[in-house]
Amino acid sequence: MDRYVVAGNPVEHSQSPFIHALFAKETGEPVEYGRLLAPLDGFEAAIRRFAEEGGRGCNVTVPFKFDAFKLAPRHTDRAALAQAANVLRFDAQGWMADNTDGIGLVNDIQRNAGVALGGKKVLLIGAGGASAGVLGPLIHAGSAELVVANRSVDKALALVERHRTVAASAGTQLRAASLEQAGSAYDVVINGTAASLSGAGIPVGPQALREGTLALDMMYGPPARCFLDWAASHGAIGRDGLGMLVEQAAEAFLLWRGVRPSTTAVLSTLRERLAAKA
Ligand code: NDP
Repeated sequence: MDRYVVAGNPVEHSQSPFIHALFAKETGEPVEYGRLLAPLDGFEAAIRRFAEEGGRGCNVTVPFKFDAFKLAPRHTDRAALAQAANVLRFDAQGWMADNTDGIGLVNDIQRNAGVALGGKKVLLIGAGGASAGVLGPLIHAGSAELVVANRSVDKALALVERHRTVAASAGTQLRAASLEQAGSAYDVVINGTAASLSGAGIPVGPQALREGTLALDMMYGPPARCFLDWAASHGAIGRDGLGMLVEQAAEAFLLWRGVRPSTTAVLSTLRERLAAKA
């Protein structure tokens, strides 16, 4: 069996082991996938140990995506733009970092939720590793206007600055904002903060929404409930991060194994599993 893990802190909430077990079954690939709780001050040592013990790659979650990018001497273009990685592959030629969060999110919004991003006004809340990974793909998907709002505005500004050239060539109006000045009446609102995970509530005011806004929280399971209820109570269409999770996982599996598993049945099974647990 080839071994993979999802590494993060916290990590016990992650559904990635379940998803990759289904992908392995579907494709017949000899994949064994677990969780690795990395100490907040010991991510690099934990990953190096796992690789030395024969691990073939890992997914990386909160709060280590920027650290993961720095660990790998080689990276894909999308990881380089994000300067954050959610996937590492341990190759004989050196480690490779990729970022599949963005394509995962865009595929979930456009294919699974059926909302085209072309020409849309989009609010991205957060400027951490997950938001860094999705900003480029949201621009490439044709968003007309994109605002990145974050608690620490300097991080939003830096993220926007790094994407300035890409946005200009795609014709996307891109700006950074504080949470208090996040703007109003968006077509799509994406919560890419860790606020739901820590139970800290909703990071922006309801003016960000309008009737029919797609309001997506990257979080899933019970911690996403508060955001989904908030969205529904203001006439928006709430969506959790499960679809994104499954889609980004399929792209990671492709990078590791050279085969892309199908996602529709896996997403349904995962929803049923979480509903049964609730
Ligand atoms: P990081 O630690 O890199 O970034 C955290 C972000 O959340 C920062 O922008 C931070 O703001 C903000 N934040 C944290 N707490 C609060 C709060 N109380 N109020 C407002 N903003 C807050 O984490 P990631 O970016 O890696 O992950 C963010 C979330 O997205 C996690 O919940 C993760 O589980 C989820 N995720 C889901 C995925 C999926 O596939 N569904 C994929 C990737 C992530 P500041 O800069 O000011 O500290």
